[in-house]
Amino acid sequence: NNDRVFNFSAGPSVLPEEVLSIAAKEMLNYNNSGMSVMEMSHRSKVYESIISDAEKHLRSLMNIPDHYKVLFLQGGASTQFAMVPLNLFTKYKRASYIDTGSWASKAAKEANKYGEAVVIASSKEDNYSHIPKLDPSIFPKDVDYFHITTNNTIYGTRYTPENIPDTGSTPLIGDMSSNILSEYYDINKFSLIYAGAQKNMGPAGVTIVIIKEELIGHAMDITPTMLDYKTHADNDSLYNTPPCYSIYMCKLVFEWLIKQGGLAAIEEKNKYKANLLYSYIDNSTLFKNPVAVEDRSLMNITFITGNQELDASFVKEAAQKGLVNLKGHRSVGGMRASIYNAMPVEGVEKLIAFMKEFEAKHK
Ligand code: PMP
Repeated sequence: NNDRVFNFSAGPSVLPEEVLSIAAKEMLNYNNSGMSVMEMSHRSKVYESIISDAEKHLRSLMNIPDHYKVLFLQGGASTQFAMVPLNLFTKYKRASYIDTGSWASKAAKEANKYGEAVVIASSKEDNYSHIPKLDPSIFPKDVDYFHITTNNTIYGTRYTPENIPDTGSTPLIGDMSSNILSEYYDINKFSLIYAGAQKNMGPAGVTIVIIKEELIGHAMDITPTMLDYKTHADNDSLYNTPPCYSIYMCKLVFEWLIKQGGLAAIEEKNKYKANLLYSYIDNSTLFKNPVAVEDRSLMNITFITGNQELDASFVKEAAQKGLVNLKGHRSVGGMRASIYNAMPVEGVEKLIAFMKEFEAKHK
């Protein structure tokens, strides 16, 4: 569709055009139900098959073992910052956190309301430009869990699948909001993964939690019913009205991903796209990426010229060419290109072509 721009927004973000077309086609009459998915009861047979397909597809894409529950919740990843400690502070009421950016530090701050978040490593002093090197011998043993943010949306860093810390018998929790389904992570290394949908899965409104069954059912006494994983696990995410339409969109995105060839294929495509952009930036005399090479995100690629006015004109001129939402997060400035699964290679190529043109003009 020629009216569409290349949308580099960090989230909510680009969705596959194919998925949007299917949603449009099914809008008025879903699967001969005579109504839109937005209008149907979450207790109807037709809706039940939507949510169960969504779960089935996610399980197959991520290779989720049977002893993990998949939950479709509300409240965004930010609500998980509270739900994780409320449900997992069972013995020590302490947890280890790695501070790799604002989201990681917000998660730790929230946990401090219910116990103690011990920040065992941080890259804050280096403007979060890398993932701290972790020495497992310093990991505290007297903690209920260990929390990481697998991809740092604002700073453009990530734990590679090989770099996921081995926390032994301490449950590892991962905020995967901005890189879930972008490459293959071994789920068995984690006890709980959570992610807001609005980057790689669908529209805002649904948060996906993948949790080992043994962690369910031990929430602190003060935990509100709606924030207890058990409430949702016991009711297959239908304790109350779920974000029905967002879940339906996730189902379509999962089907699209399967059609693309699953995570192996999307990972290859994501690495190709990210590599195109990083290679260009690394050889550019105008643009720089400040992130340690081994920790670079495949999803959020930051760059600067070193001159704020020039950055601002870049963002503005890019938008005039249909390359939109390239402004960096308000807390860091510069530029950020979020190139989630649904960003076509062509979008990255167009961006690089424009960067070259801009560079030639501002040598
Ligand atoms: N964690 C990460 C890594 C994020 O990128 C975001 C949102 N950008 C959040 C948490 C917060 O998510 P939500 O807005 O769904 O609460």
